[in-house]
Amino acid sequence: MTDIILGIDLGTTNSEVSVIRDNEIVVLEKDGAKLFPSVVGLNISGNLLVGHAARNQAILYPERTVKSIKRRMGEDVKVQLGEREYTPPEISAMILRTLRAYAEESLGQKVSKAVITVPAFFNDTQREATRLAGELAGLEVLRIINEPTAASLVYGTDPDKSETLLVYDLGGGTFDVSIVRVEGGVIEVLASHGDTHLGGDDFDQLLFDHVCETFKKKNKVDLRQTPTAVSRVMQAVEEAKKQLSTEPFAAVREEFLVEKDGTPLHLDLEISRNDYEAMILPLLEKTVTCLNDALRDAGLRPTDIDKVILVGGASRTPLVHQLLENRMGTTPHGEIDPDLCVTMGAAVQGGLISGAEVGRVLIDITPHTLGVSAFMDHDQSPYHFVPLIKRNTPVPCTRSDVFGTNHDNQEMVIIEVFQGEAEDVRYNTQIGEFYLKGLSKAPRGNEIVCRFDLDINGILHVSATEKKTGLQDTITVENALDARKSDENDKFREHLDGFFDDLEFAQPIDESPEIVDVADNSSLLEKFNPEGLEKGWEKTYAEEIDLMQRAMKRLPDVSQDDAREISELIQKTVDAMNHRKRDEAQASASELEDLLYYLEDSV
Ligand code: AMP
Repeated sequence: MTDIILGIDLGTTNSEVSVIRDNEIVVLEKDGAKLFPSVVGLNISGNLLVGHAARNQAILYPERTVKSIKRRMGEDVKVQLGEREYTPPEISAMILRTLRAYAEESLGQKVSKAVITVPAFFNDTQREATRLAGELAGLEVLRIINEPTAASLVYGTDPDKSETLLVYDLGGGTFDVSIVRVEGGVIEVLASHGDTHLGGDDFDQLLFDHVCETFKKKNKVDLRQTPTAVSRVMQAVEEAKKQLSTEPFAAVREEFLVEKDGTPLHLDLEISRNDYEAMILPLLEKTVTCLNDALRDAGLRPTDIDKVILVGGASRTPLVHQLLENRMGTTPHGEIDPDLCVTMGAAVQGGLISGAEVGRVLIDITPHTLGVSAFMDHDQSPYHFVPLIKRNTPVPCTRSDVFGTNHDNQEMVIIEVFQGEAEDVRYNTQIGEFYLKGLSKAPRGNEIVCRFDLDINGILHVSATEKKTGLQDTITVENALDARKSDENDKFREHLDGFFDDLEFAQPIDESPEIVDVADNSSLLEKFNPEGLEKGWEKTYAEEIDLMQRAMKRLPDVSQDDAREISELIQKTVDAMNHRKRDEAQASASELEDLLYYLEDSV
């Protein structure tokens, strides 16, 4: 029997523990919870509290509670807890000792070995402090591994392939972004940047301030003066924040929150996702700056990144996905629970050490994006595709968004449901349609909430609700997970075949591996994947395609350096076309054009 090795993510806000059992990664639970607050405290009687109990008392008894000890690891300090002072590794050991006890209870056997993760930016002292914490908790720490390395391990990249991943980790209190190279089974962190004081807790704080200010304006009472109210509102805004990841509105309701002149006051406030996103945007822009710094340090461009991986609970925020997609030109992967990805990777590392076979992590995901058509104000085109459930989202899942009517006193709306990746719905496949009739008289912009519920069997329930009145209609689409083929797709594929037949492939200049590599046009073209491009792409990109064909013909009679440059520019143009980045495709094609002029001149 192989040894049981715990994989532990010792986090700033939460910690998690998992093991490999019967070739599968199992995240251990305590009372149904997999996330375990990294909080230590003493109750009134002086008994030690670790986890949820300690977190629950943190706001009321801050002097008897220690949070976020991970930030102090490696520092020569002591923190007060009751009568005594403790070092950061001692406090961390209390968390680890409790995790170990839960693991033993859940597995029904003693465990004494662990792999523990740390941020990539931890220095040797911080790593040593973590190792010491493990030892104080009675664990033999077999490895200390980087969190982004763990995340890459669990995404199970093919060990025979070399891949470059970008791991975007936005937790409760910290943010970091790392660029990781996986090659021949070796994982190396090429660059890492971050902000140790940026995370989901800051989003809670912004919402909290907004709620307190609104309440104060209305009731002339500052909730911040009452500790129990602070604690309740903090929990309520965190819930609202999570809700805003899937819904366009969230309500913050707390009854009997405070008293004013003997009268109880209630809190009842609605927050829209739009307003919430405006609040957090400046913080998320900071994360994009860190990402740019990491790319620069690694000497890479967005198109060099094969996969963007989301880690940390706050990375579920839709605005994070949108900003990353804009910057990187590719949809980020969050299908493995971003809260559990790191502990799971630590367990995989434990499995590699003990020789246990670890199967791939299997998750049910939607392979296609599902959404609706909508008018957009800026061009009045009715064909815009608005995704609600993006591809690679784990199922079951629920997402909703809000739309406005186009005309004053509009009496009905049509909801057209599509599957596909194009921005123009005409090139996606329609899988359902219904009307919501009998809307109330209202100026244009009357809000209609559209909701998608997708279950594990691929059954999609779509509802449309007039927000003001609750008027609702629904449809059910069977087999929404299956690919629907349309005639358009077949025509498109035929056209594509024609395009490939017409291309002449240049021969490599000689057999030296370097040249074969850069001038291997077939591999360049394999990367061109026009599926999902808008209809008429061949016209849209006619100039770029023509340029690339001309450039490829020049390859046999130019120098190695020029051949490399041409190949790189073709690759860049193709990448941009694949990611539907018209501006970038035009920019690199124009560089290519300049280069061709120069080569023609210098003949
Ligand atoms: P972590 O430190 O990775 O456990 O992340 C915890 C942070 O993620 C906390 O700020 C949570 O409120 C936040 N979080 C968890 N789930 C969601 C969600 N669905 N949407 C937005 N933030 C979330």
